[in-house]
Amino acid sequence: MRPEVSPGAFAHTRCVRVDMVDVTRRHLRPVPGWLLGVAVAAVVLASALVGQQLASHVEQRAVRQAGLTAQTVVAMAVEQTVTVDHLDGAQPLPTSVAAALDRNVEVLAQRGLLYGLEVWRSDGVLLFADAGHPTTETRMPLREQQRTAAESTFLQPGDRTVGGQDTVEVFLSYDADHDGSADGTVEVVLPSVRAEVTHDIVKLYVALGLATFLVGTALVQTNRRARIRQAEALRDPLTGLGNRMALRRAEGSLRGRTESDRAALILFDLDRFKAVNDTLGHQAGDALLVQVAEVLTSLVSPTDLVVRLGGDEFAVLIPDVPNAEAALTTARTVIDGLHQGAFAVQGVLLDVRASAGVAMLPDDATDVAGLLQRADIAMYAAKRLGAGVVPYSCEVDPHDVDQLQLLAELRYAIDHDELVLHYQPKAELDSSEVLSVEALVRWVHPRHGLLQPGAFIPMAEVTGLIQPLTAWVLEQACRQAALWRSAGRPLAVAVNISPRSLVGGDLPTIVLDTLTRTGLPAHLLELEITETAVMADPAGATAVLQQLDAMGIRVSLDDFGTGYTSMALLPSLPVHALKIDRTFITGMLGAQQDAAVAESLLTLAHRFGLRVVAEGVETLDVWDRLRELGCEQAQGFYLARPMPADTLDSWLQQRTSVGASSARV
Ligand code: C2E
Ligand code: MG
Ligand code: MG
Repeated sequence: MRPEVSPGAFAHTRCVRVDMVDVTRRHLRPVPGWLLGVAVAAVVLASALVGQQLASHVEQRAVRQAGLTAQTVVAMAVEQTVTVDHLDGAQPLPTSVAAALDRNVEVLAQRGLLYGLEVWRSDGVLLFADAGHPTTETRMPLREQQRTAAESTFLQPGDRTVGGQDTVEVFLSYDADHDGSADGTVEVVLPSVRAEVTHDIVKLYVALGLATFLVGTALVQTNRRARIRQAEALRDPLTGLGNRMALRRAEGSLRGRTESDRAALILFDLDRFKAVNDTLGHQAGDALLVQVAEVLTSLVSPTDLVVRLGGDEFAVLIPDVPNAEAALTTARTVIDGLHQGAFAVQGVLLDVRASAGVAMLPDDATDVAGLLQRADIAMYAAKRLGAGVVPYSCEVDPHDVDQLQLLAELRYAIDHDELVLHYQPKAELDSSEVLSVEALVRWVHPRHGLLQPGAFIPMAEVTGLIQPLTAWVLEQACRQAALWRSAGRPLAVAVNISPRSLVGGDLPTIVLDTLTRTGLPAHLLELEITETAVMADPAGATAVLQQLDAMGIRVSLDDFGTGYTSMALLPSLPVHALKIDRTFITGMLGAQQDAAVAESLLTLAHRFGLRVVAEGVETLDVWDRLRELGCEQAQGFYLARPMPADTLDSWLQQRTSVGASSARV
């Protein structure tokens, strides 16, 4: 005996990751406002410090200049005239010397080199003074005597003003005989350097201020340009939405999350968009994309990030979502909204349909690049299946090594009878009679053991292998039903038909051929199709269903309630029964919402004259409740699990012998 593998075991095998390469272009990045403020403040501070340094330098230079001028004056006007003898003793200066000094002072004053001159003896007595010197001051003030002794040259603001101009007094020790010791002091009154210095310093500060302003402005401008460039780099110019780069940037907002936090990425791709471009032109295509962007944005939460990835591909990143079901609901809302939206381009009303793939973080990927890749795979599966929305799973991932291996093996399995059918009975709820069974395929895999359909049907649907698989199942199921019939136990057999098999191939012909070959009357064959199969191509599906109906084959809508069948379509569909999905049935007595859905689906089906089959009945309580509600048929583990044909024979035998065909199972 081979070990049994649970349906989920294979479905959750690790998928191989194909990470995308980040080809983000490097730009000058804008800095945050506070950093820019600091930079500008630093420039201002630096220029203030430099200004202060330069100002003191200018002042010192002016002082040195004044000292040099004074020395020149002494050399020109005093040294040739006043000797050490004149400074020694208590004699006043000879009149001729004083007159010579007067002349010299006058000549230099005329050239604007000085305003006045005094010669003091070393004991502080005034020896010579020009006419502008106050006559009362005949001795050198003590403070100046002391400073001359200590500094030999120093400056101080002058007492007089000449022609409205301030003056400066330069005191110089005068060594008349050049023996190294001062013999007196010469005081030279010069035009004040302050005005000049102030002027220079003002000029300096203006220049520095201007430079600071220019540097600061350049910094702010560069930052602004970088910011604009960055914003443009993250924006799709056509729709104004974010672009692929913006989506990558959103990675940051997904960090620091806990294990239980979920985010979702939904990737949308418009169906037949190329036709719009080809028939109405690229401008019309662009106009449509702009409208789609607006509608899409209006259909999601403001906290979701909507981006255009390029072409007719859009993505929505939901940073916070409770579970995959909520993300799928959003995806369906958008697809419905787009379908119902009125898109008019160049006066032409366009019917917009889209396919979507959904990937969850952290279930399917751990980063945005991974999410994108997974959502892309799911979206392509949605396109292939015409399923509207498909969540990512390993089964739809052709990159998965195990899946590729399995795919290759499935071709072989179909041709070499590695597939088997198990049959699950369905019972009439009022009589508990079993009048039909559902054929459910399994794969007796040489290495993996018994594989449930969830491990290989989705893959077969994606690749086209579903056509030979459906044909094989039909053939086996009809053959088995014909055997039961000839054994005196006419049981109807229900076969599941995938969306692609419904409209992709020539189903009515295949069915007819199979019935003819196996000799099974049409009324003993039922077909189960899903809502999504109908919705993918309502017109095509209706046409096929009408042909099957004409052949006398009964069809039920499987997994009802999980897809999104247009209720308007239901009355016109030639179907006989609705199979309420087991997600609403199994726990219907515990969950009020499930019970409400199940009850309203029952009412709806009855209103349209359809029979109702409840899937997933696992307990007697649910069985009883469904019977009370008027549900016609039940299928589920409470009655029996799917089993091989010979086991079913014994099961039916046993049931008959214990007289179980009464009100209870
Ligand atoms: P389905 O057509 O809705 O089949 C019913 C599924 O529900 C079966 O799972 C069955 O084992 C399971 N089930 C029945 N009663 C209960 C219950 O009381 N509780 C629970 N928890 N489950 C119950 P299975 O065999 O794994 O098949 C899964 C799906 O695979 C089927 O769903 C059908 O969509 C698909 N499938 C199976 N065989 C075929 C096939 O031959 N062709 C195609 N295209 N699809 C098939
Ligand atoms: Mg079914
Ligand atoms: Mg079902």
